[in-house]
Amino acid sequence: MKLNKINDRIWVSSFEEERDRPALGYIRGDKYSLAVDAGHSKEHVEEFYSLLKEAELPLPELTVMTHWHWDHTFGMFAINELSLAEKRTEEHLQKLMMEWDDESEDRLKAMDEHIALEYKDQSMQVVGADVVFGDEISLDLGGIKVQCLHTESPHTDDSVLILLPEERVLFFGDCISGEYPEWIVDIERMKLLITKLEELDFDLAIGGHWEPESKRELVERLKEENGLSL
Ligand SMILES: [Zn+2]
Repeated sequence: MKLNKINDRIWVSSFEEERDRPALGYIRGDKYSLAVDAGHSKEHVEEFYSLLKEAELPLPELTVMTHWHWDHTFGMFAINELSLAEKRTEEHLQKLMMEWDDESEDRLKAMDEHIALEYKDQSMQVVGADVVFGDEISLDLGGIKVQCLHTESPHTDDSVLILLPEERVLFFGDCISGEYPEWIVDIERMKLLITKLEELDFDLAIGGHWEPESKRELVERLKEENGLSL
């Protein structure tokens, strides 16, 4: 895993397909630092934190989830200080915790080879968030503001966009994908998502499992991949 600097306020880790580890974002404010997504596991969190320490960046006091999926939230129990989740994300996590039994971990590993690989030498722990917000929350990290906005998405019903208006950067998680595990895209939800993306003011888009791209590249790619007119 590598830590890539976007500018003096923003960093992003590389993502990994093999163990289904998404890119984790890092935003440095004068008062607080914020991570985007907790990551797949305790080991994922620890590797990310060791890269932050190497770069002499303070550990994030806040970590916001882009959606409830395991590869973004199962590291939550191992993060520094506070986690934040949209109310629908929290509902998914609470449901998972309520239904959790002795076979849950094995079932998840059997469901997906990437999960099995990530959890070869460690065990799963699912927790809820410390701070739950509805639809949106604005954060002032000191010298940089962050807007976390719920959005319609073909991926999950709890997708959250993380917008940094001053830096013109958007973290979008996995919200441009279809639904797991078939990846079928609900075209109406995709249209709503594209409209939302077009409305927001940003230059750089950073997703969970993709290289960063410009807003124009992202929107054009989504229209093309989904057979929508340009
Ligand atoms: Zn996902």
